[in-house]
Amino acid sequence: MAKKPTSTNRTTIPATAGKSDATHIKGSDPVAPLERAEAKPAAMASPKPRPLAEEKPATLQSEPASVTPRTPAPVAAPTAAKEVLKSPSQPDAAPAQPQSVHVVEPLPVGTHAPDEEPHQPRPNLFIVHITPEMAPVAKVGGLADVVFGLSQELAIRGNHVEIILPKYDNMRYDHIYNLHVDFQDLFVPWFDGTIHCTVYFGLVHDRKCFFIEPHSQDDYFNRGSIYGFQDDVMRFAFFSRAAMEFLWKANKHPDIIHCHDWQTALVPVYLYEFYQRIGMTHPRVCLTIHNYQHQGVIGGELLRATGLHDPQRYFDYNRLRDNHHQHALNLLKGGIVYANFVTTVSPRYAFETKDGGQGFGLEPTLHTHHIKYGGVVNGIDYGVWNPEVDGYIPTRYGIDSIDGKYDNKRALRDRLMLAHNEKPIVAFIGRLDPQKGLDLLRHAIFFALERGAQFVLLGSSPDQAINADFWGLKNMLNESQDCHLEIGFDEELSHLIYAGADMMLVPSRFEPCGLTQLIALRYGTIPVVRSVGGLADTVFDMDNSDLPLQERNGYVFENYDHPGLEYALGRAMACYSDHPDRYRELIKNAMRYDYSWNLPGQDYLNIYDFIREK
Ligand code: ADP
Repeated sequence: MAKKPTSTNRTTIPATAGKSDATHIKGSDPVAPLERAEAKPAAMASPKPRPLAEEKPATLQSEPASVTPRTPAPVAAPTAAKEVLKSPSQPDAAPAQPQSVHVVEPLPVGTHAPDEEPHQPRPNLFIVHITPEMAPVAKVGGLADVVFGLSQELAIRGNHVEIILPKYDNMRYDHIYNLHVDFQDLFVPWFDGTIHCTVYFGLVHDRKCFFIEPHSQDDYFNRGSIYGFQDDVMRFAFFSRAAMEFLWKANKHPDIIHCHDWQTALVPVYLYEFYQRIGMTHPRVCLTIHNYQHQGVIGGELLRATGLHDPQRYFDYNRLRDNHHQHALNLLKGGIVYANFVTTVSPRYAFETKDGGQGFGLEPTLHTHHIKYGGVVNGIDYGVWNPEVDGYIPTRYGIDSIDGKYDNKRALRDRLMLAHNEKPIVAFIGRLDPQKGLDLLRHAIFFALERGAQFVLLGSSPDQAINADFWGLKNMLNESQDCHLEIGFDEELSHLIYAGADMMLVPSRFEPCGLTQLIALRYGTIPVVRSVGGLADTVFDMDNSDLPLQERNGYVFENYDHPGLEYALGRAMACYSDHPDRYRELIKNAMRYDYSWNLPGQDYLNIYDFIREK
């Protein structure tokens, strides 16, 4: 029976992770070992909701002098081997579960595994990110922020980092410095011919970025938006191929290629099936999955387009065949099978996707490849998200000058024409996607207003029906001086909301990591979250937690229903109104957490070091 990771865990990387796969790209078939052993069908049980202990709210003492920020243990790849590998074997179409799978036990905060090797200096690496998004030039969601923040952290640590993106027509070109042609004529194999591409180079806030522009009548990236087209899978299958062709033709042989989500999950497939065979034997691939909901599922035409001309080989459940649609191929599954290491963006989500029924059909594949699978909580870029230096907010503040937050609250109210009163401001910022818990969000708006709070929402959706629904709500609440719904995407306004609000609501159905709660913590805006995915790994309930009082940083609820939400939001609002001193301490607790890229950057370097060719 798999163990559920506890909420204080920031990373889970199996101790033996990657070892068996670290060399598979060089010379041997990544799938071959799977074809030997046996698989056992097993039921995929959903984890039981973890009941919140019914404790009395604890009284916060004044801050002890020596409280240090929680610094969770870095992931240490070569820790004691707790992972027992049973090789699953047969096609993983039917749910298969290795006989004995253990999620690595979390290490106590701030400790290291006893047999962890002392820090060794390691060579600087050449790392290439191949990605569909990067903030701020091409941002749809958190993936864009992750590539922006992680690439900077890796570069600060002395590694050479390059990023390859499509050249979209709707990018924020004002954030690209010195854009110029780097590679004039790149011919990328596609169907029976090639597509002529031009590769540009430019700096995005010091990040070295290559942008691939295809010249074809399909106009893959000149469509005014990043996603939303019926040929999206083809578009990004092409981009992945073009990125690999560029590396090959430009004679780049990175130590690590880091790809992201289904859009670039074919990268390790191409590397193994094409480029390794013609001499690109050095790179190893890390795939990060930011969300399992979208997987890139397509029919056999993919094989004709990409040149993967062997249907029997690729329509194999051990390779790219979709676990549920027998006539379809699944790009994300291919990435999991072929990559040297697969991460997702929190340990809890790693558990939920493999063992908690959240893998959107990929559970058996994750079981088969569990030895190279783990979770690393995202960081946030404190150069961008930091109330001490934030250029978008009228008053800067820090943990020693929290009162500055209230100037921003005034500014937020002025900007949104809200009443100035004693009420707390509850906020929501995010995509208006069912994943984010839209029905609970709607309920929360009325609950908060009824209980004497103000509510601010900033969000949008590509789905017109959802947008229309929230426009209706906005019109209904238009007269209220305690409520403002902003339907749209506005980076600048988001900064003011993070700074000026008192609470940040994240009532998600599922949440791989979540950045809004991490940003909110930095701004002393108390997160009120559902205990799922990365939210469970980063927010610790004020009243119900095993952590010391000074490490509790928010309010948490378990069940996805109205009472659950009311339980958490009600307590947060009551604390704000009835115990202002306690609430102030809670703000300090929140601001003390370190969710920068410092630790996750180290985690990824450990993974890279583990899989790289030595
Ligand atoms: P996801 O990746 O599922 O969209 P995350 O919480 O990981 O969610 O990341 C969301 C990021 O996008 C955060 O930086 C958040 O501030 C930002 N964001 C989401 N919606 C908006 C919006 N409407 N306007 C401005 N920023 C937004």
